[in-house]
Amino acid sequence: MPVSGLNYKLSWDKDFPEENKLEMRPTGKKYDSETHPNWKFKYKLDSNQRRVFAKDIDITVSLDKKDNWVVRAKMLDELLRHEQGHYDITALLARDFDVSIKKISASSVDEIRKKVGNLEQEFKRKFNDIQISRYDKQTKHGADRSVQEMWEQRISAEKRKSDGSADNLP
Ligand SMILES: [Zn+2]
Repeated sequence: MPVSGLNYKLSWDKDFPEENKLEMRPTGKKYDSETHPNWKFKYKLDSNQRRVFAKDIDITVSLDKKDNWVVRAKMLDELLRHEQGHYDITALLARDFDVSIKKISASSVDEIRKKVGNLEQEFKRKFNDIQISRYDKQTKHGADRSVQEMWEQRISAEKRKSDGSADNLP
């Protein structure tokens, strides 16, 4: 099963609730917008004589729209492209997750559940590292136009490659 929602184009209209179009930044926020992309997954288990493994893996990339917000006066294309980058990085990670979960096998049901849980933790760390410590920091949340453009190119190059991976991002 391919990962769903890999290609999705964000818009201020449909992805940012009207009540979250704000006159000013919420207290303590350093940026003018925030989106919350993530992915959900389901799987079944199968086994042969020796090993247990995941099958029917179903992964969907999505947005928690109710948590997305933007400062109304900053609803510009440049900022939307920056937020699109957060979504696209999430899509890349979801595809990597799909590759990784398919490689897991274990000797028992308990063990495979544990391994999948560990993989989730590993990807949560990766998610925060790439989205916050690298993408937001390097692009200054999109304010550095040339770094932002470089990231957009790198993200779309990895998305196009069949063996592309979030691990190859700057
Ligand atoms: Zn950002």
